[in-house]
Amino acid sequence: MAEIKKLAESRDLTRIERIGAHSHIRGLGLDTTLEARTASEGMVGQLPARRAAGLILQLVREGRIAGRAVLLAGQPGTGKTAIAMGLAKSLGLETPFATLSASELFSLEFSKTEALTQAFRKAIGVRIKEEAEVIEGEVVEITVDRPAAGGAAAKTGKLTLKTTDMETVYELGGKMIEALTREKVQSGDVVALDKASGKVTKLGRSIGRSRDYDAVGPHTKFVRCPEGELQKRKEVVHCVTLHEIDVINSRTQGFLALFTGDTGEIRAEVREQIDTKVAEWREEGKAEIIPGVLFIDEVHMLDIECFSFLNRALENEMAPILVIATNRGITNIRGTNYRSPHGIPADFLDRLLIISTQPYTEEEIRQILDIRCEEEDVEMSKDAKVLLTKIGVETSLRYAIHLITAAALACQKRKGKIVEMEDISRVYQLFLDVKRSTQYLMEYQNEYMF
Ligand code: ATP
Repeated sequence: MAEIKKLAESRDLTRIERIGAHSHIRGLGLDTTLEARTASEGMVGQLPARRAAGLILQLVREGRIAGRAVLLAGQPGTGKTAIAMGLAKSLGLETPFATLSASELFSLEFSKTEALTQAFRKAIGVRIKEEAEVIEGEVVEITVDRPAAGGAAAKTGKLTLKTTDMETVYELGGKMIEALTREKVQSGDVVALDKASGKVTKLGRSIGRSRDYDAVGPHTKFVRCPEGELQKRKEVVHCVTLHEIDVINSRTQGFLALFTGDTGEIRAEVREQIDTKVAEWREEGKAEIIPGVLFIDEVHMLDIECFSFLNRALENEMAPILVIATNRGITNIRGTNYRSPHGIPADFLDRLLIISTQPYTEEEIRQILDIRCEEEDVEMSKDAKVLLTKIGVETSLRYAIHLITAAALACQKRKGKIVEMEDISRVYQLFLDVKRSTQYLMEYQNEYMF
């Protein structure tokens, strides 16, 4: 690897936001004194745990969390993942949030430590500042070389642009012509051209005098170029994770591996080179590290080797905030014959700030279901919500959340607009919750076994 691959490759990599289980969580829902609001930023209830998470937030902001980790202990579905994500969101929009279920480590084709390293690097963001050469001006004329009849599409052209007081002619390549056509750029438009990426942005229409438009952003400075024309250099900021940089630089298919998830094992030399490069960028003021949040669920499934890895990883100056979760009490430390609280070795327990989560009240479940209906754009009648809440109380919050999507489909099928009780009962009968499913299996196990 001669040079770390330009981040331009990942520049247009749009992260696809879909409605996930926690997409309604936008923060911890705290006020300015870090007191938890009853319902805010998609978060409901769980006040003591959110208050405690608020203190963690403060420790992180003051840079006093190093070497420590947070343990969320509580029953399934009590918002452990939601709180970890809320913490990441409260730290800032660019803060990466990565999750890993400890049991996954034992089913991946690569080693446990590789999987843990990847998870750590997914939770470390790098904010990179690049200078892009941007020319802004009023379009005087665009000419495109017409292809000969039956020939290929036009590949070249010329653009006359009035930059400050002079007119300059730019040679255009196919990419730039496509961009100009796509943006429907005409004479009299004021545009910004990014020569490196071929990106064209329409800034408005000229109103007769050049520079009558106000397009100078906070990161823009003017520089005089050798040709004497006035150009702009814009500071473009990209945020990527260390893992994304690793993947782009380690596989022949480059950033596409990020979509397929087929990242494979990444060689230690690749990571070393990337760390050195990032350290250089940081020294030159071109990059900043944004420690994110790494959430490891079912932490009692980690074995003693994983815990020694975590012990070491937490000492790294770039370490993300590690939040682990479990619903186990005293249990075996995997890979040993020793028992300990949550199956965590004593030296690691020592590092932990422990927060417990509590089961929700009926009213809290109702409010969470309300938020989820809104998030999924599902309109539900009052009666249906009452029934769904009851189901949530009797089965689990997560099961009730799943029924929202299913009930909306049932409603759509009968060409209804609003989800009614009948839709909820229908999907309740179609999909079993854990309690009914186990009961069913117990009743019929004799038939299954023989
Ligand atoms: P598990 O131990 O099984 O992993 P968990 O404790 O991590 O469960 P979550 O997955 O966070 O539980 O919660 C289940 C669902 O309820 C998720 O969709 C989550 O976003 C939502 N949820 C949980 N707690 C809250 C809350 N306090 N406010 C809003 N939504 C919540």
